[in-house]
Amino acid sequence: MDREVRVRFAPSPTGPLHIGGLRTALYNYIFARRHGGKMILRIEDTDSTRFVPGAEEYINEALAWCGIGIDEGVREGGPYGPYKQSERRDIYREHVDMLLKAGKAYIAFDTPEELAKAREEHPNFQYDARTRMNMRNSLTMSEEEVKSLIDGGTQYVVRFLIEPGRDVEVDDLIRGKVVINSDILDDKVLYKSADDLPTYHLANIVDDHLMKVSHVIRGEEWLPSAPLHVLLYEAFGWSDTMPQFVHLPLLLKPVGNGKLSKRDGDKLGFPVFPLEWHDPKSGEISSGYRERGYLPEALVNFLALLGWNPGDDTELMSIDELIEKFSFDHCSKAGAKFDYKKGIWFNHEYLMRLSDAEVGELFKPLLAARGIEGFSDEYIARAAGLVKTRVDFPQQLWEQADFFFKAPECYAEKDVKKRWKNGTPAIMRELVGVLEGISDMTSANAEKIVLDWIASREYHLGNVMNAFRLAVVGACRGPHMFDITELMPKEEVIARINRAIKTIPEPEA
Ligand code: GLU
Repeated sequence: MDREVRVRFAPSPTGPLHIGGLRTALYNYIFARRHGGKMILRIEDTDSTRFVPGAEEYINEALAWCGIGIDEGVREGGPYGPYKQSERRDIYREHVDMLLKAGKAYIAFDTPEELAKAREEHPNFQYDARTRMNMRNSLTMSEEEVKSLIDGGTQYVVRFLIEPGRDVEVDDLIRGKVVINSDILDDKVLYKSADDLPTYHLANIVDDHLMKVSHVIRGEEWLPSAPLHVLLYEAFGWSDTMPQFVHLPLLLKPVGNGKLSKRDGDKLGFPVFPLEWHDPKSGEISSGYRERGYLPEALVNFLALLGWNPGDDTELMSIDELIEKFSFDHCSKAGAKFDYKKGIWFNHEYLMRLSDAEVGELFKPLLAARGIEGFSDEYIARAAGLVKTRVDFPQQLWEQADFFFKAPECYAEKDVKKRWKNGTPAIMRELVGVLEGISDMTSANAEKIVLDWIASREYHLGNVMNAFRLAVVGACRGPHMFDITELMPKEEVIARINRAIKTIPEPEA
């Protein structure tokens, strides 16, 4: 790369960060790290009507949770700040003036009513070379008239003067060259006097230039703005340092066609936001990946593969491996289906790879929430370790490992019917004696002794072991029986067998 890599993630604080926005941030981050560059977080808050309180904090928290580090930003500072657009008004005003002076933009006074009327009269109305000379603007009015209107406090906008009939070329790293004719573009509003703020287009271009952004990596939905942006760079005389465009493929619905939406998530039961979001206006709560029990590393890995692959079929990659392998050469143009089940698979794989102690840490708050106390970290870690291969989310640890923390209150009816036979209580009483005689309860040792006893008595192995399990666990489920009895205190195992003998009725012979 011959230019210092400087990328930016530029969200508007209009609500919670969508999972697609998070992928955009991730690709920017990975690309910056891959090339030893800088990752900028710029808050694009020039549309005051769409501002949502809490959205900026949400964005910061979501990025931090995913380990997406920011080099320059509102909180981090940096050489090209401020990094919040609402704090850069002077800069934009100055740049609007530059365009006005160069005759690349003009002032327009048309009121919303006048514009509505024009649209009514001409169904395909567009403010452009064909129509602008019929409107009320600095191209059709005298200088004195314009000045007196402005001095009198009349509100106005500044529009970009688009030259008609030009082929505008957008060079995109994923899509190649995209050419469109300037005839289809309208004279976009760049600035509004009413709130003394620029629109997205102007602020975005000016900031990318001033912040020395080398690559604009963003969602495909911004591709239609790119020709206008190319023309703006040209109007400012910045074409030589124009960033490289990279428009990422859309995230598509898991089933059917079209863009992934919140509705898909609601319908199929997966979150579309990284963190839970409490809507400040409606009070509605939308679920988040974090609260569902996803590990951030799993989510990052899953998202990275939506639209990119490493060139082979490797799927499990740490963030460092992603950084090492990433390149836009392997990004697809076509949209990526949001296969949320794959996300669950990733979470399972990442959970399984955690140490028992780490899974134990995830388990602890779930136990506390149930009022379970008095177990050592080691005990919790070992219990979690014995069941971690059976869960996709930490929340499922309880249903898999509950019996390590409390004796069964009832016994699964189906298993009782099948495994608790006439004669079982007597065999269980004998088993208690056998267990009492074992001083080393490690799994292999206890297993050998118990199986030898079953063989010597010529008991049915399956029936004895399942009755044993039923008594200790409460159902015929769970990890290897002797792993359970290695961990659980022997007195507890014995007490549970005695309790089962007492409470489960013995069927008639
Ligand atoms: N503020 C825009 C957004 O909300 C930025 C788009 C861009 O990256 O240019 O995504």
